[in-house]
Amino acid sequence: MKYGVNEQGYYGEFGGAYIPEMLYPNVEELRNKYLSIINEDGFKKEFDQLLKDYVGRPSPLYPAKRYSEKYGANIFFKREDLNHTGSHKINNAIGQILLARRLGKKRIIAETGAGQHGVATATVCALMGIECVVYMGEVDMERQAPNVSRMKMLGATVVPARSGSKTLKDATNEALRDWIANPVDTHYIIGSVVGPYPYPDMVARFQSIISLETKKQLSEHTGRELPDYVMACVGGGSNAMGMFYHFLDDESVKLVAVEAAGKGVDSGHSAATTFLGREGVLHGSRTILMQTPDGQVVEPYSISAGLDYPGIGPQHAYLYKIHRAEYVSITDDEALQAGLLCSQLEGIIPAIETAHALAYLENMKFKTDDTVVICISGRGDKDLDTYIKYFGY
Ligand SMILES: *Cc1c(COP(=O)(O)O)cnc(C)c1O
Repeated sequence: MKYGVNEQGYYGEFGGAYIPEMLYPNVEELRNKYLSIINEDGFKKEFDQLLKDYVGRPSPLYPAKRYSEKYGANIFFKREDLNHTGSHKINNAIGQILLARRLGKKRIIAETGAGQHGVATATVCALMGIECVVYMGEVDMERQAPNVSRMKMLGATVVPARSGSKTLKDATNEALRDWIANPVDTHYIIGSVVGPYPYPDMVARFQSIISLETKKQLSEHTGRELPDYVMACVGGGSNAMGMFYHFLDDESVKLVAVEAAGKGVDSGHSAATTFLGREGVLHGSRTILMQTPDGQVVEPYSISAGLDYPGIGPQHAYLYKIHRAEYVSITDDEALQAGLLCSQLEGIIPAIETAHALAYLENMKFKTDDTVVICISGRGDKDLDTYIKYFGY
């Protein structure tokens, strides 16, 4: 694959595994085994079966009639919001729990921002009867209280991360600390295409089901496999990478990744990584991240907990640098308005993360026969309080 990872774990100069020596055995074990395990017939069969019977895949590709009229193009929604647990995150969680079982692991740890990855992980641990500990920033626990209750009801232990901004990056640090302390029996399920190699590649492969299905469904709808544009929001970048994956080598397909500008890229309250960031190392990989001139990670801000992350996955950093994909950003206000528009034009209340991707349609210039696929990464139930506060319903 032209834009895929090389044998050393790099995408151009991005990626790799910059980890403390004490994590070597864990990461090395994964690195040596992940490809042979996920390419086994038995693994593929079990993964596909669970995606079908448990997650409810394939997720529909919905021709959004009223959006198409409004924006003057053929707009399709890839409905990851209809998955069990409400977002794309379950695809990766199922893949990693099956992998963990084959590695003989007895305990699962995870980090979570919006709570969606924590819920997905707690869900698959319940499904498999495996112990689950989820690290979550204290601020995120308040913003996403219903998801905390959900994880507890599913039998997981939720541990608050109280350092730094008390959000996703701090939860990630805590989870890494746990993994170092428990190297033998524990698997760390990372929720996005971030972290040391092989995570970015492994998570992208599990999420690539999104674009695999889209190609087939699009040709059923339109007679063509290839759209003109594919769009998705980017926190760490897993729904976007899943949505891009099988289109990467089709150079005619334009890829648009939408980051969170927060209160504005120049406001000091933003998570627009490619706009504000520089190259450096974050959570085990060389990528682009928001940092001070002397290399301290800058606290990111977005109204949506899932996009509130100071970096992007290394494959995104590469696609950005070589201009294979375009990286843009949308403010809190623009996203919330887009969430309302989607609710009232299509009867779909999107996650605020997803609403960022939808909002960028306002800035696009389409030809009338353009075909556009947007990844509806998740549903808005978890964000109702935020929507209600903003619009005053
Ligand atoms: C977590 C989340 C995101 C952001 O994560 P990515 O890894 O960038 O996909 C986007 N949308 C929803 C609904 C999420 O839960």
